[in-house]
Amino acid sequence: MKKNLLLTPGPSKVPVELCEVLGKPIIHHRTPQFQQVLKEVFAGLKQLIGTSSDVYLLASSGTGAMEAAVANLVNPGDKVITVEYGKFGERWTALVKAFKATPVVLKVAWGRAVTVEEIKKALAENPDAKAVFLTQCETSTAVTPDLAIIGAFLKATKVALVVDAVSAMGTEPVRMDDWGVDVYCSGSHKGMMLPPGVGVVAVSAKAIAMIDASTNVRFYFDLRKARKALADTDTPFTPAIGIVIALNEAIKMLLAEGIDNKQAYYLKLAKAVWAGAEAIGLGVYAQPEFRSRALTAILVPEALNPKKLVKTMRDVHGITFAGGQGDLDGKVIRIAHMGAVDEYDILAGLSCLEKVLKEAGHKFELGASLAAAQKVFNS
Ligand SMILES: *Cc1c(COP(=O)(O)O)cnc(C)c1O
Repeated sequence: MKKNLLLTPGPSKVPVELCEVLGKPIIHHRTPQFQQVLKEVFAGLKQLIGTSSDVYLLASSGTGAMEAAVANLVNPGDKVITVEYGKFGERWTALVKAFKATPVVLKVAWGRAVTVEEIKKALAENPDAKAVFLTQCETSTAVTPDLAIIGAFLKATKVALVVDAVSAMGTEPVRMDDWGVDVYCSGSHKGMMLPPGVGVVAVSAKAIAMIDASTNVRFYFDLRKARKALADTDTPFTPAIGIVIALNEAIKMLLAEGIDNKQAYYLKLAKAVWAGAEAIGLGVYAQPEFRSRALTAILVPEALNPKKLVKTMRDVHGITFAGGQGDLDGKVIRIAHMGAVDEYDILAGLSCLEKVLKEAGHKFELGASLAAAQKVFNS
């Protein structure tokens, strides 16, 4: 039997404890039992992301949460700033255009993330912009900006800060209220180590005022409906019941371990991957000061055919990495160190990568990436 190890940045590896929860018979959602679950999930998410404001649950993937943010915050013709340093930043621009608002695109070189200076400049040039849309962990390039500093600047303005945290929730630090994040969008299938199906949108008071003032068309993702339901510890439509129940357990697991400890562990896994990649003559795509702890994009020479390496690792060895997206298609191999991934999964992944690299004719000393990773684990 082949292994079935997911080292992909969404969906990420689901721990056995949560597979067991997911395998239980479904319960009805309009019951005291489920209401208790919802109560705990809302409280747990607030603690996890550091907010005392509203958190809504949607039955959707991560993009549904992003669409909800756009549909509820901007009106046709509104000017907003969308920041692009990878494929998911481009998604913000596409969404804003789909809702007939006007994006001012702040393009940042791939491999790094936006800085507060760049945001200040874009806003100085566009004082009428209503919001800034950015990505906390840009999963296509594996970078993260300094969200605390960016938030601190925007908090003092009328401009809303909307964050795609689909791969960042649980993996990258956030204190939503302290940092001045107005909308925080995420999902169940990355740092929360579950299958896809639950979208999460947290909103500040500033965002709620914008949502109420918006005249935009919305129905399923109408956050005013979610807000009304929340007052009764409810959701406006049938939630993804099984995944919400498992999300409650996932949050408890993360809080029991301590979110800071978990994120420190992810950073350690990340450092092991960086050291491992470098030890076998590969590069890390992201610039050092912007590297995310959720995943790594490993630069692989195109002559070695990274796409084929990913396919062989998945189909022959049962270990699934992700290839590159957009401009990085055929140039990188991405490995997630989020969710239930641990150091032995990282070692399994690196050893599989070594195997297919050797077969492809890459020159390096067998075991070098494993030794480098082990050194980090034992430091
Ligand atoms: C996964 C991901 C998304 C959303 O993707 P879905 O397929 O809709 O879940 C959005 N942004 C980032 C940064 C992601 O990693």
